[in-house]
Amino acid sequence: MSEIPLRKISYYDEFECQCSRCIDNCCHGWVIPLDEDILDRIKKEKGAYGIWLRSTVHGKNQKIFSPLSIRCPHLTRDGYCGIQKRKGEGYIADVCREYPRIRFNFGPAAEYFLDLSCVHAASLFLNHVDDEDVFVRGRAEVLPDTYGNNEEYEHFELLEQHRMHMVAEIRRAARVSAEELNDSMRAYAGREWRVQNELLIKGGSRLWECDEAEDIGCDLFPLPIKHINEMMSTCFYEEWLKYSSPFLYKLCRMYYKNFDRLDYAQGDEELKRLFDTYIATDKTIVKVMGDYMVSVLLRRYMMSFEDYSPYHHFKDAYLMLNLFCLFYVLWYDKNGKPKKKDVARIIAAAEKRFFHNDNALKDVHAAVKAEKQNGKNNP
Ligand code: SF4
Repeated sequence: MSEIPLRKISYYDEFECQCSRCIDNCCHGWVIPLDEDILDRIKKEKGAYGIWLRSTVHGKNQKIFSPLSIRCPHLTRDGYCGIQKRKGEGYIADVCREYPRIRFNFGPAAEYFLDLSCVHAASLFLNHVDDEDVFVRGRAEVLPDTYGNNEEYEHFELLEQHRMHMVAEIRRAARVSAEELNDSMRAYAGREWRVQNELLIKGGSRLWECDEAEDIGCDLFPLPIKHINEMMSTCFYEEWLKYSSPFLYKLCRMYYKNFDRLDYAQGDEELKRLFDTYIATDKTIVKVMGDYMVSVLLRRYMMSFEDYSPYHHFKDAYLMLNLFCLFYVLWYDKNGKPKKKDVARIIAAAEKRFFHNDNALKDVHAAVKAEKQNGKNNP
């Protein structure tokens, strides 16, 4: 048993892959990176099966299955992994065995989550939004390798305390109103931006303790349509989604159908209409939106232990929240109120594209410059 504390998201142990019952099987829609161990096993595999296995490995430096991100060649008709069926769980690639579990060992503490790009994990998240404690606490039998190599444990403690402060405040605000949630996020974003600049330029910041947060300078929930459009058009949407992620493709087409013909002023009006009709007046939905923001913060904010970029990870959360919010209202407008399974599907499809495509994520961050609205915040 390890000495360091382990925090597991409250629904972590409930996860069980739905295999053939899954409504959006993860063996579709992305390339599957192969680790050295499975490549070694594949190399040694004898007979016709070995030949078939090797014929499905692609890529030069990084070896992969499914280079066109459409469907893993080993996914069977009944929705199972053909390799696992034939050779057992110990044989498959690390990424397939672990997914959707995300395990961070930061050194002073470990944290385990489920990746909500898995539609069943997203359903579990929706079933647990009212959990009083977001974590189950304990100690791990065996820990994964440490995340990065930072040993500045005081920085870790500071980040952790600050994250939980934000989580509590955003949860509170989301239970009051959409305006309150927007105000709270604007204030935190302003401070995260200033803290990040100080960390990266001066090597430290005292602004964590400063309660007078600075406003970022524009609405974050929802973002102005200009920023949403920048996100959609940069790298998030592409025609290939038609094949790699047909559900997300449908959602994106709804966006373009509604907004393509409008200029920014008209687009803001249309977004406000959708937002006011389907979100702002329904406290239960605003609460789910706030809980979702919290879920992304919990999973991603502590990455700034390694890169000293807390604003960057806060931005991950509010950008992803806005995509979720956009697809939610578009769905509602076209099909009526989304059921829980539809909401889980929207979250999973958008996260899969947003958080599992490094180019898209980088370009989206670069394109949306909400922080530039506030001149005095610029470094
Ligand atoms: S998306 Fe989740 S539940 Fe569905 S097949 Fe993949 S791991 Fe299993």
